[in-house]
Amino acid sequence: MHGPSPRRPPMRAGSLRDGMTSRRDRMNHVVLTGDRPTGPLHLGHYFGSLANRVRLQDTYEMYVLIADYQVITDRDLPGSIQRNITELLLDYLAVGIDPAKVIVFQHSAIPELNQLLLPFLSLVSVAELSRNPTVKDEIAHSSQQAVSGLMYTYPVHQAADILFCKGTLVPVGRDQLPHVEVTRLVARRFNERYGEVFPLPEAMMGEQPLLKGLDGGKMSKSRGNAIALSATEDETAALIRKARTDSERLITFDETNRPEVANLLTLAGLCLGRAPRDIADEIGYGGAAALKRLVTEAVNEFLRPIRKRRAEHTEGDVRRILAEGNERARERAVITLGEVRDAMGF
Ligand code: ATP
Ligand code: MG
Repeated sequence: MHGPSPRRPPMRAGSLRDGMTSRRDRMNHVVLTGDRPTGPLHLGHYFGSLANRVRLQDTYEMYVLIADYQVITDRDLPGSIQRNITELLLDYLAVGIDPAKVIVFQHSAIPELNQLLLPFLSLVSVAELSRNPTVKDEIAHSSQQAVSGLMYTYPVHQAADILFCKGTLVPVGRDQLPHVEVTRLVARRFNERYGEVFPLPEAMMGEQPLLKGLDGGKMSKSRGNAIALSATEDETAALIRKARTDSERLITFDETNRPEVANLLTLAGLCLGRAPRDIADEIGYGGAAALKRLVTEAVNEFLRPIRKRRAEHTEGDVRRILAEGNERARERAVITLGEVRDAMGF
């Protein structure tokens, strides 16, 4: 597909933001990103990654991974995995991911992708694996009896996810930046040891690289602090009603001293496409009640067309899309694994 070529401008370390299109537009990117089927997608996914996927799908070859094997990195059992996969795919369709343009596939259906983990693990040290800040954060929130080996090695598994299709652009939230760095490290070391096979991918963060949940921590599927894209109007209203605020009447946007209020203003701002500060000015002395009313209306208005599109698709659609995506992703993985074996002399 798109191996590194001498004509391609060299990629620098770090990540791209939304607006930086000039250099990117000159390149023929392969986009890879994905989600764990651990529960319904939420607004953090939308503003961190999904909006970029929808925007990029018209221009570039794109793969979206349902990371089912990674569900068991931070819990002992995979839970309602089939149900979660179906819901995840419905969420994709609801936000406008078009399966005619995007290859949607799952880890467990692509053995050749998973096999890349083996040579890749040989390229990183145990010390490098154990100082990954996102892994540390996830260990702190894990529901496992004991921290598993998979927890420490899953960033290398993500390197396999990105490199199996020679991905060059990875639309993700901020928590994923250390993992994209691991991927770059793996690609660089592989190329140094065995010859040029892989491009060095770059992360691309969305409008809101780290949306906070209703408890002030990272909005996460597994932490009970998220507004799901599939939540009903009433569920959304109930979640926002429960959000913590303070007793000051004058609403201001002050992320340091009033993080809970600032977070709600950020949410409304993202949904309305407005600056949080302007929204605060508009509410003025309305207090927490007026703030929550405005946020609820903004979120519900934003989610209305997403909910409508979600209802237009069936489980039959999901099965068909996944079967086709798995087949196409597998064809890609077979080619890359072949190149890796050749390069290594196996
Ligand atoms: P879990 O709690 O099960 O880990 P999650 O909500 O963290 O779920 P993931 O499937 O781990 O979701 O992440 C999928 C993608 O969404 C990643 O690119 C991640 O960076 C992005 N993402 C997740 N949460 C947020 C958030 N709060 N803000 C911005 N991006 C996010
Ligand atoms: Mg996560």
